[in-house]
Amino acid sequence: MRKPVLIGNWKMNGSLQANQALMVRLLPRLRMFRKSMDLAVCPPLPYLFQVRDLLGYTGIALGAQNASAFVSGAYTGEVSATMLQEMGCRYVLVGHSERRTLYGETNQDVAARFRAVMSVGLTPVLCVGESLEEREADQTSTVVANQIQAVIDEVGLSSLAKGVVAYEPVWAIGTGRTATPEQVSMVHQDIRSFVGRNASEASQDISDALRIIYGGSVKPENAFDLFGLADVDGGLIGGASLHSEDFGAIAGALAEASGLLTDECETN
Ligand code: PEP
Repeated sequence: MRKPVLIGNWKMNGSLQANQALMVRLLPRLRMFRKSMDLAVCPPLPYLFQVRDLLGYTGIALGAQNASAFVSGAYTGEVSATMLQEMGCRYVLVGHSERRTLYGETNQDVAARFRAVMSVGLTPVLCVGESLEEREADQTSTVVANQIQAVIDEVGLSSLAKGVVAYEPVWAIGTGRTATPEQVSMVHQDIRSFVGRNASEASQDISDALRIIYGGSVKPENAFDLFGLADVDGGLIGGASLHSEDFGAIAGALAEASGLLTDECETN
């Protein structure tokens, strides 16, 4: 059984004061789910230290929003995976659509970043997804397959599965427009079967074990329907992760949809 994952992407939001207030309200809401799912928050880089301390020994992991493909050197503005590991990160997002569209990261750049993150023992969260134009041109499968294939070409299939794949249709991110359960289900199935068709003996096992999460305007109101889909193993949450009540409710929806809302979960 694949363990559900829920990750909050704070994007470029927060302040020392706001982070403290958010975490004080959020941690008690997440506490009961910490054994049944993998939980993480990804603050902006300057706040990693602060949030790491606030997370303490709660079992909720720290993540970062990107990492350089390089180990060190003359790469002004970049941060290496080793540095993130030293700061206590466990997850790193790679290829978020905002990085791809606003900063021109290509499939090959993203694959190199994935490799760098993996090589220091952190878990890369590979974000994939199509734009509205690509969806309307019936290109969704091809675009997503190419994004994943670039990572397979770089690190191999078994290494891909050590990460998490986040399907995030670009047109649904931060727009309030959520993909329908049917649309999500189709792409998640597509990703799993694409990985399963890979010419490696273990591809079916790898595909069965791969965690594929959904992101794009997930809210408490739509989370249960999305997380209840067979091939959806959790969520990458942007805007709603900045609101403790919403993120807590989304974690509850994930636990319920995954059949994990047990007495142990409720009392822990
Ligand atoms: C994201 O930033 O990855 C995301 C899914 O954002 P939102 O939930 O705000 O659409």
